[in-house]
This record gives sequence, C-alpha cells and structure tokens, in this order.
Amino acid sequence: MGGHRGQGGKRRALRAGALGSGGARRPPRCRAVSADRARRRRQSAPEACIQAAPGGRPVRAAALCLVAGCSLGAAGVILLRPPTGGPAGWVVAGCDVGQGDAFVINTGPGRALVIDTGPDPGAMDECLSDLAVTVVDLLVVTHLHEDHYAGAAGVFEGRQVKGLGYSSGEPTLPRELGALARTAGLEPARIAAGDVGRAGGVKWEALWPPPTGGTSAGAPGGTGYGNENDASAVLLVEIPGPERPATALFTGDIEQEASLRLLSGRPELARAGVDILKVPHHGARNGGTAIIKALRPGLALISSGEGNDYGHPHPQVVADLRRQSVYAARTDRLGTFTVALGTAGLEVRPMAD
Ligand SMILES: [Zn+2]
Repeated sequence: MGGHRGQGGKRRALRAGALGSGGARRPPRCRAVSADRARRRRQSAPEACIQAAPGGRPVRAAALCLVAGCSLGAAGVILLRPPTGGPAGWVVAGCDVGQGDAFVINTGPGRALVIDTGPDPGAMDECLSDLAVTVVDLLVVTHLHEDHYAGAAGVFEGRQVKGLGYSSGEPTLPRELGALARTAGLEPARIAAGDVGRAGGVKWEALWPPPTGGTSAGAPGGTGYGNENDASAVLLVEIPGPERPATALFTGDIEQEASLRLLSGRPELARAGVDILKVPHHGARNGGTAIIKALRPGLALISSGEGNDYGHPHPQVVADLRRQSVYAARTDRLGTFTVALGTAGLEVRPMAD
C-alpha cells in the first residue's frame, strides 16, 4: 500500500483554516432550491452545484445552477466535461451505493484514493466509471462490515488497484476481499493511527484506531475490538486547493465514545477544525454529534440509502447540523455527488444521470 507508519511522536499536524483568503463568500447568482428539489430535478439538470462555505459559516440555501446560466463569485464556475469523461474539477465524491459508504478522493487524472466500497460491486464500479477513475492508488476499507467492503469487486473491475489497507477488530479478512487482493498481487495492510501516505498531491494520515497493543481503547490487532464500528480507520486527508489545502476527515462508522477518545488524543485537530467531515456511521445517533461540534466543518458528507430501514441519518444529527449551519451533502438525497474547491468555497454537485 502507499503509506508507511510514522515514527513515534513525529506525526505531522495537518493544518486547516478558511479556504482561500479572498474574503467573504459571494452569493451565487442562481435560484435557491432545497437539496430535495435539487435531487428531484437531477434528471433535467445536466450539471448542478450546491455551494457551502468553509469554516462553518452559514449555508442555508442550496443553489441549483445550470451550466450556462450560473456564475459563483468573481471567478465563476466553469463546468465543462473534459473529453476524457468524468466531471470537471472534482476533489471528493460520495458514491450512491445504497445503504453503505463509498468515498473517492481525486489524486490525479484518472486516479483516486477510495475509502470504502459500499455493499454493491455494480454501484461501486458505476461510480468510479462515472468519475473516469482507472487507477486506484489505495483502497481503504475502514472496517469489515459488508456495507463498507462487499462492493470491493467493483473497485477492481477493469482497474489497477495499487494498494489495499483496512482496519478491523477481526483477525482475518473476509474470503472475497482476500481473494481480490491475491488476484491483484496485493498484500493487505492493517491501518492504524500514525500511518501516513500520499498519492499525487493528496496526503493522508490515519488518526484511529490506536496501533495494536496501544491504549485502553483496545488493540484491534486480531483478537476482537468489541465493537467493529469503533475499529474503523479514521483518515485525515489533505487536498491541494487553489490557495491552500483543504482538509477532510473520513470517519467510517466510529461511534461517539471512540470519537471522543480520538479528539482528546489529538487536541490540535479541534483547534484547526476541518473543511469537510464525513459524518460517522451514516449519521446514526450512536455516531453522535460531538465530533461535528468539535471540528466545525464547512461541509458534512453523509452516505445512506434512500428510505433505509435504519433511519439513517438520525433526525437529531440532521437537526444538529442544521443548527450549526453546516450543509449536509447526502447520497440519499443527491445520489452520487462531487465536491469541488472553488475560489468562493466548497461546491457540491449531484452527478448528472
Ligand atoms: Zn456502515
């Protein structure tokens, strides 16, 4: 895999601040509609954008903008599909894989870091094809629940996968994941806090779980973690931006108690905040809202299946995000969506059907 374990105590603190230094966000010159309406109108809108301000500033209205008729800020938004396919300018994508997680980080033309695969290989493959990803620098399976790994075959479908990292309280990989790795000639590697890596201009650092034999949080080294959700690999990703890097935290299904431990062990994380937060555990109540309050994201990502039986995301989590004026990009509302770093802030666009 692309990462290596950092030397003890010498972990780099990834800094975050407001995106760009260009001052206040300018209001989009387009009609404001709800995210629900944006999704319903996806069929007729070949491109759409929803703008969220970084640094936790209020974003109450989503903006649906047709390509030709919309401009955001002085630099405007240029949404032209490159001839090779795939949306222009995306840095992060949330794949609509039904009830599960699958996120993609752009590491270069046709390349990506993939975090989780959802439960359905077909949906995973389709999302990566829509993004024109042909090389996966690293596939990270945050933990070994099917809604995070069972779609893995879709990542390998016709693509070069260069690394496989995972975390789990279980001692072994599921048979199908092991078989995929063997076929691709990969040696799966456990991920733990302190691991770092980079692909293209994207850097990542694992903040969780503690390494085997580590803290009282448990040792996810193979004898069971108690709660597989809390064994989730949590990755802080630094993405090059037009004026400064953006930070995104991917949290798997970590639950509130573990997230509080993580935060207390990394106080600099709360000081800096993050630009983008993948809300833990599909927005479930046991994922809690402490991490949202602590990290003050400019944009929240939630992956859950439309009308899922679990009630994800929980209304309390949604209400807390709204109270903090954090826009939540949800796969159950938007389908597959992409995030771009505009000069005026973060831009969320549902993928055109
Ligand atoms: Zn899950």
